[in-house]
Amino acid sequence: MTVEKVDTLVIGGGQAGLAASEHLTNNGVPHLVIERKRIAERWRSERWDTLVANGPAWHDRFPNMTFDMDPDGFASKDSIVSYFEAYAKQINASIRCGVEVTALSSKPDGSGFIAETSQGSIEARNVVAATGPFQKPVIPPVVPADSGITQIHSASYRNPGQLPEGGVLVIGAGSSGVQIADELARAGRKVYLAVGPHNRPPRSYRGKDFVWWLGALGLWNMETPDPSTEHVTIAVSGARGGHTVDFRDLAAQGITLVGRAESYANGTMHFAPDLAQNIAAGDADYLSVLDSADAHIEREGLDFPEEPEARIIGPEPDCVKDPILELDLAKAGITSIIWATGYALDFGWLQFDVMDERGRPAHQRGVSKVPGFYFLGLAWLSRRASPFIWGVWHDAKYIAEQIAAKAR
Ligand SMILES: Cc1cc2nc3c(=O)[nH]c(=O)nc-3n(C[C@H](O)[C@H](O)[C@H](O)COP(=O)(O)OP(=O)(O)OC[C@H]3O[C@@H](n4cnc5c(N)ncnc54)[C@H](O)[C@@H]3O)c2cc1C
Repeated sequence: MTVEKVDTLVIGGGQAGLAASEHLTNNGVPHLVIERKRIAERWRSERWDTLVANGPAWHDRFPNMTFDMDPDGFASKDSIVSYFEAYAKQINASIRCGVEVTALSSKPDGSGFIAETSQGSIEARNVVAATGPFQKPVIPPVVPADSGITQIHSASYRNPGQLPEGGVLVIGAGSSGVQIADELARAGRKVYLAVGPHNRPPRSYRGKDFVWWLGALGLWNMETPDPSTEHVTIAVSGARGGHTVDFRDLAAQGITLVGRAESYANGTMHFAPDLAQNIAAGDADYLSVLDSADAHIEREGLDFPEEPEARIIGPEPDCVKDPILELDLAKAGITSIIWATGYALDFGWLQFDVMDERGRPAHQRGVSKVPGFYFLGLAWLSRRASPFIWGVWHDAKYIAEQIAAKAR
């Protein structure tokens, strides 16, 4: 059997794989990107219909191509797919779609790797794993599958019409959970939203979008999550032109807020008594962003408009003051649960040890402990920006330079 040989194999044809291709070309490294389905597949088939980017179009993009739209607008998922297709053409990406890597082993003499794919074997001196920061939807094992309630992960949510008639419990108050809850309520559904610890930064403040502030305050470049704070999800939205997520607004719209969904028994969901605390901590985080922005403006002597009204926090809604701690789902008319509870990694195809003692990818800025093997696109790969569209492009540059230097 003939074995195809390439210098560098990139696994995954999302934004990370395309960025890798661009920089490998720029560094004169022959390579092949293989993608099991289509370019930017996750944006096509693992996002809801009305999803728009969380950051404005001037920001959520690669440096060498703009979106064909208002730069302050938020690109739809379809335009993001078109953008990456056009990008692949622009850089003449060496990409083969419809091919899946089923196993990757390292050659016994350490001279490279063998990828088993759905279309035969490929031998490569270097491999870049660009299979995504958000690979496997996680549904905590709380409600049994035979409970009679439709349960889906946010990755499988498309639109309100896909769910059976009736109320919906959305679990998780990050960007996905709040946007899906909002859409369902606007479609006339009775919605309960389980709100855990979260940050909810202002969409914009004193004339600048939140992503601009992350840059100005040096937060995109943070190298590790602040060890003093527990990891919390972040609730931002570019929907309907972009707006600050405020749970009071969601409550005013008729959504019933509840605390973290803790356990389920005999048709009843039990919620933690942490709702008011989670909302208060989210407010405190929101106000701390305003404080940091004000301090920056002062320090730099910037002439930005004042925005005192951004500091007005409304009264607690009744559902926060007197929270529901247990809910008989059938009596409440709830027929579906949407778990907006995040993702795990899945490197089941890797046949050599490249993980740390806690089972997480072991690497320095994507350079793994196995010579010739690289990770790209993971959360916090080099800094906060790493899993996002513009951040991965810079990480890909570094990885390509490492591969080229190794060849030299
Ligand atoms: C709901 C949601 C909204 C987001 N919104 C934004 C946003 O607005 N702005 C932003 O900057 N970021 C956003 N992100 C974060 C990030 O940009 C996306 O997760 C993005 O898809 C990551 O791109 P990637 O190329 O690293 O990985 P992926 O898009 O996951 O691409 C990996 C590719 O690898 C392929 N693949 C996997 N395994 C194999 C295999 N064994 N063989 C061959 N191919 C394989 C997959 O089919 C996939 O196409 C969002 C994430 C989510 C979940």
